[in-house]
Amino acid sequence: MDIDTIRTEALTCTKCRLAQGRTQVVWADGNLDSDVCIIGEAPGFNEDKQGIPFVGAAGQLLDKMLADIDLDRSTVAIVNVIKCRPPGNRDPQPDEIEACRPYLSAQLNHMRPAVIITLGNFATKFILESPVGITKARGQVYSRKGASIIPTFHPAAALRGGRFGGMSTMDAMRQDFELVGRVLEERRAAPRAAPPDTEQLDLFG
Ligand code: URA
Repeated sequence: MDIDTIRTEALTCTKCRLAQGRTQVVWADGNLDSDVCIIGEAPGFNEDKQGIPFVGAAGQLLDKMLADIDLDRSTVAIVNVIKCRPPGNRDPQPDEIEACRPYLSAQLNHMRPAVIITLGNFATKFILESPVGITKARGQVYSRKGASIIPTFHPAAALRGGRFGGMSTMDAMRQDFELVGRVLEERRAAPRAAPPDTEQLDLFG
């Protein structure tokens, strides 16, 4: 199925309880043909109203971090692990993540991004398929099925102003985005080798 058909299906999805409370499904922003994909957690209040991911305060910080490495939201893909707002912005439940899994998998299989930035615990655990939390996982580049994965804090966490290991969450996030800039430069200088056919069928299932 092509990505437009899957999007059309997603926009009327009723596979989990979040369908009841949402204003609309928040599918993606930016360019789903980009080589860079940014994955957040779930739509919040503003995203639910506007139908666009990361348009609130966290989104403004994300835009700033992108600008610092000469990227603009129109040239990257911005998606979430789950596409509907959880009530009161609570954490997504495991069954909601599972119900929504085919949509993010389809987006990633369509894009085959060279670089994936995971924002916070939910996106990082989804992509790395590991229970390791973001504080431990960040600051490194992981390789998964031909893509470079760079986990960092969720911008909402940086806005809350936390610290860990003598560093502010905001500074750690800045460092991680600098790492994204370096990885992108390297990857764009060296053309991507095509993955074998078997992997092409199921990149992020
Ligand atoms: N936080 C997220 O994880 N995603 C959004 O789209 C907005 C806030």
